[in-house]
Amino acid sequence: MVGIFKAKLTAPDIKAKAKALGADLVGIADGAAMDANPPDPANPQRPSDITDLDGKRVIVLARRLSDGVARIKAWGDRHKYYNDEIALTMLEETSLELVYWLEDQGYPAIIIPPTHTDPWNYEGDPKQHMTPLLSMPHAAVEAGLGTLGLNLQIITPEYGPRVVLTAVLCSAEVECDSPRTDALCLGPSCGRCLKTCPADAVKHWDRDWPACDEYRSPYGFAKLSGHIEKIIEAGTPEERRDLLRSETTFNLWQSILRGSGAITGCRRCADVCPVGEDYELMLKAALEDIPENTPDKETRLSEMLGAEQAGQRAPGEVQQIRWIGRRT
Ligand code: SF4
Ligand code: SF4
Repeated sequence: MVGIFKAKLTAPDIKAKAKALGADLVGIADGAAMDANPPDPANPQRPSDITDLDGKRVIVLARRLSDGVARIKAWGDRHKYYNDEIALTMLEETSLELVYWLEDQGYPAIIIPPTHTDPWNYEGDPKQHMTPLLSMPHAAVEAGLGTLGLNLQIITPEYGPRVVLTAVLCSAEVECDSPRTDALCLGPSCGRCLKTCPADAVKHWDRDWPACDEYRSPYGFAKLSGHIEKIIEAGTPEERRDLLRSETTFNLWQSILRGSGAITGCRRCADVCPVGEDYELMLKAALEDIPENTPDKETRLSEMLGAEQAGQRAPGEVQQIRWIGRRT
């Protein structure tokens, strides 16, 4: 067998190319380290579950989300969905161009999108929380791009959580980045993600994912199948027709057309996070006040803070400490 010609590549070569193609942030994780440290051992999502051959490196690309739509406070505003979907589409194109470039250098490569889930894990319940083939936030931490926050969202020093992520697998044996050691999240003493969350899904270093899914994918598969069921079960032809012509059907159609509202949705927790160089300059004046906050949310944050000050660590923090980082 004739081996594939491989050009000599370095990590800076790959990063410079990815940035020239449009990525805002690039890091390179060690596939073996990700194999050895699955974020959820019960559902490991390892590079080696995707490829035995081309997963020695996980190149994580980030594109920033626009601050203009972050400044719109309504979580369900369609401008937010649409702008984020375009950012993701552009990042996917960047990833594809990087794959072609790597392959031209002799390194077969694979894009791992943040949105596709493993159909073999689907158990017939449209509301079941589905996970992608690799956890992008965890991959981003392994690639040195940031750390996880109170609700396990990725936080970067440059843009806070206001990024979309993709990964490219390949086996170019270039130098890897290391995870950051110190946490970027300010923890329950900040808690702005919890205060704003319309689903009340932010927990103590954890997230109620099914509750979040209703908002972060408001016109996704669960909504589509539920709406079709309503149409099928409607009592009269007139009710069926009205449901068919309803705003929900219209929104579902738009989401199928563009993905906005299905693969993008609520991101209020990211908008209000004070971490990131962009926050002070672009967002603070518009987002300082959090209208969704309640006395009950304040009480829960105080309890979390009190427990931490008493030296107790939440189970979520213990389990995710590698990716949350050291807290001072
Ligand atoms: S995406 Fe929305 S619903 Fe989900 S945790 Fe963030 S604020 Fe809450
Ligand atoms: S809003 Fe505050 S608590 Fe939430 S992730 Fe950002 S820094 Fe952490």
